[in-house]
Amino acid sequence: MQDFIHQAKITEIQNLSPSVKSFKFQIIQSSEFNYEAGQFVIVSFPEINHSFPYRSYSLASASDGSNFELCVVLKPTGHASPVLFEKKAGDVLQVTKPLGNFCLPDEETIQKSSFYFICTGTGIAPFRAMLQALIRKNIKPIKLTLYFGARKEEDILYREEMEKLASTLDWFHYVPVLSQSNWNGAKGYVHPHYLNEIDNKILADTYFYICGWSEMVKETKNNLKAIGYSRKQIKFELFD
Ligand SMILES: Cc1cc2nc3c(=O)[nH]c(=O)nc-3n(C[C@H](O)[C@H](O)[C@H](O)COP(=O)(O)OP(=O)(O)OC[C@H]3O[C@@H](n4cnc5c(N)ncnc54)[C@H](O)[C@@H]3O)c2cc1C
Repeated sequence: MQDFIHQAKITEIQNLSPSVKSFKFQIIQSSEFNYEAGQFVIVSFPEINHSFPYRSYSLASASDGSNFELCVVLKPTGHASPVLFEKKAGDVLQVTKPLGNFCLPDEETIQKSSFYFICTGTGIAPFRAMLQALIRKNIKPIKLTLYFGARKEEDILYREEMEKLASTLDWFHYVPVLSQSNWNGAKGYVHPHYLNEIDNKILADTYFYICGWSEMVKETKNNLKAIGYSRKQIKFELFD
């Protein structure tokens, strides 16, 4: 049984794409809600008619006083996301303390390592939090490349923000990959793109972080294991 110890008020809702919204929250009863970038919370949905009236969401922003942000895709046939999408600013939801250990290593390790963040859709959420945390703490990895997969240009989440970061941070590289668009950027699925960059080599001091739905996560893990990467270098967060 989860412990829904926090009351979180929605302060702002934004459309990030035709099917994804960002929800900004503020914890009501405390001025602090500390967490590590990459963690998630479980939200209670007592109103849904389901044996499991809770859903997990990665924290999409770095820890910031009593504020946090979630980025959620609407599953029209789902139980909880349609209910969440009906919520308004001012509504209060019950959430657990931050959970999970899909987090970056210690500062010293980050500074001497390269990272590949690989995700599709709202799988970008924990990576956005990690990027914000690195920038806020002024921690610079050797290199960090974000591969973000989606269908169309309208589905690219946080595009402006990521493009701005890529143009201002010399260590950050941003590769949006679209599967159903004839655009000028990277096309198809994310896999050939990161595989091409690592060129079948086992790179030392390199970590792969993968986040999203099982099909993409499994395929990425299998590709990396086939090259010979060890479990220690591969971290993942499954959304299903
Ligand atoms: C760690 C984690 C982080 C996540 N972060 C995000 C995020 O940032 N953004 C986002 O859009 N989605 C995220 N998800 C997915 C999210 O929790 C929901 O699964 C998704 O929004 C669909 O929910 P739904 O109720 O609309 O669909 P439904 O089809 O009603 O729910 C399906 C999901 O509910 C859960 N579930 C249902 N029954 C059970 C049960 N008996 N026991 C355990 N679990 C059950 C499963 O996760 C299942 O995939 C995350 C999932 C996990 C596990």
